[in-house]
Amino acid sequence: MTLRKFQMLVNGAWIDAASGKTYESINPATGRVWSVLPDADEADADHAVRAADAAFRGPAWRGLTATTRGKLLRRLGDLIAEHASELAELETQDNGKLIRETRGQLAYLPEFFHYSAGLADKLEGSTLPIDKADMFAFTVPEPLGVVAAIIPWNSPLYLTAIKLAPALAAGNTLVIKPSEHASASILRFAALVAEAGFPAGVVNVVTGLGPSAGAALTKHPLVRRIAFTGGPSTARHVIKASAENFAKLSLELGGKSANIVFDDADLESAVNGAVAGIYAASGQSCVAGSRLLVQDGIYERFVAALTARMARIRIGDPLDPNSDMGPMATEQQLGIVESMVGRAREEGADVLAGGQRPAGHEGWYYEPTLLACTSEKLDVVQNEVFGPVAAIMRFNDDAEALALANGTEYALAAGIWTRDIGRAHRFARDIHAGIVWVNTYRAVSAMAPIGGFGASGYGREGGIHAVLDYTELKTVWVNLSEQPMGDPFVMR
Ligand code: NAP
Repeated sequence: MTLRKFQMLVNGAWIDAASGKTYESINPATGRVWSVLPDADEADADHAVRAADAAFRGPAWRGLTATTRGKLLRRLGDLIAEHASELAELETQDNGKLIRETRGQLAYLPEFFHYSAGLADKLEGSTLPIDKADMFAFTVPEPLGVVAAIIPWNSPLYLTAIKLAPALAAGNTLVIKPSEHASASILRFAALVAEAGFPAGVVNVVTGLGPSAGAALTKHPLVRRIAFTGGPSTARHVIKASAENFAKLSLELGGKSANIVFDDADLESAVNGAVAGIYAASGQSCVAGSRLLVQDGIYERFVAALTARMARIRIGDPLDPNSDMGPMATEQQLGIVESMVGRAREEGADVLAGGQRPAGHEGWYYEPTLLACTSEKLDVVQNEVFGPVAAIMRFNDDAEALALANGTEYALAAGIWTRDIGRAHRFARDIHAGIVWVNTYRAVSAMAPIGGFGASGYGREGGIHAVLDYTELKTVWVNLSEQPMGDPFVMR
């Protein structure tokens, strides 16, 4: 197979790393190298940030009305729709995500651009009913400048769109750093950004490794905003880097989300919700419902129905539309899954299903796995696996369910399965999580904020607030008085 060679986009030009260095990317379904990419370092990051900063200040972007920015975003959304299958196939080849999932994400992706396009010329300031005679004061939301968007490997285009669309709507410019394991679809997308008519330098992509290219970007003095999605330990580096440049941060980190099934739940829906929560995307999803909490009265029936459903999950080539579960995106991730399941066994977890690599697959596959756990102290109950591994625990009553649900340092998402409307609302109120789904799981929309608390990060992506989060308010005071200004040593 001939290797595909990619270049990165800086200031409207497709270039190699200044050093000439490259790295190889592996197709997770085969375990073989399929592409070669520029291995950017600090000099490349500096080049891209300076290009983005010049574009931010230059008339080609700064001079556009907000309405025109909206039109460009709309055109970009339309171009994504036109190229959806090509982008989906590229992403699946690169990170092993199921083609059904990437096609679904790509079919929806234009909505992020259309939604943000509509908001671009509706970011209004306000006149302030100021309590000073002869003063007129108003606010103006202003773009921040250069945004460094740091993207993980699990949903590259989706997680780029959710950052880029609101950031551009607000008038910022960007440098995107995709994961070294999944850059191809973002590079193809960047060509569509140029085709849509965005001026050179408004969107730049720097490929390379996190500790070099990523770290150089996040600490760059001209970066004003960092939009990061990834794991908590990398987030700590990003927070420290922002101490250098005072960049405003949003951190979308992982989770250990509880999917809670009550006795009165619709069994079939709850089982499908559990599968959607943890086995879709092979569990490589920040919102994965990796802790199944099931009430005593339904526990046995639920486990029987879930394991029967798991047995029908078809593991296979992610490019095959009949596959239900593809491989882990990286060999390292497969190793993490194996070692966490091994540790869970040692700590006393009972393997109800899966727990190994499936036979007959050469890529980085792992079986859908269900681990019965009797203690919430287990590592697999407290920490994110980021693979197709659910820890299942039983509970007796609402109070115990809530204590278990809120019993980790993560707080990203939760699912509740019940027919009792009062209980659904009580749990929605009391669960410590940024997203709560009632009788559904993994529902997403351009209009709905996503984000967490605690170790799951802070800041929200999606919805109106996300666009506002890419602005800062300027307050303007105008003295209307015809009198000369008086005593300079007192506040006005
Ligand atoms: P990761 O290792 O934290 O990497 C995320 C990104 O940060 C990658 O682009 C990575 O580049 C880069 N990076 C690594 N070290 C860096 C540094 N020192 N400075 C700046 N950037 C650096 O996470 P991952 O393994 O790719 O993704 C899985 C994690 O993301 C999971 O914890 C998951 O839950 C979380 N996630 C959260 C959400 C959400 O919305 N909350 C969504 C998806 C994923 P390289 O890949 O090139 O090293």
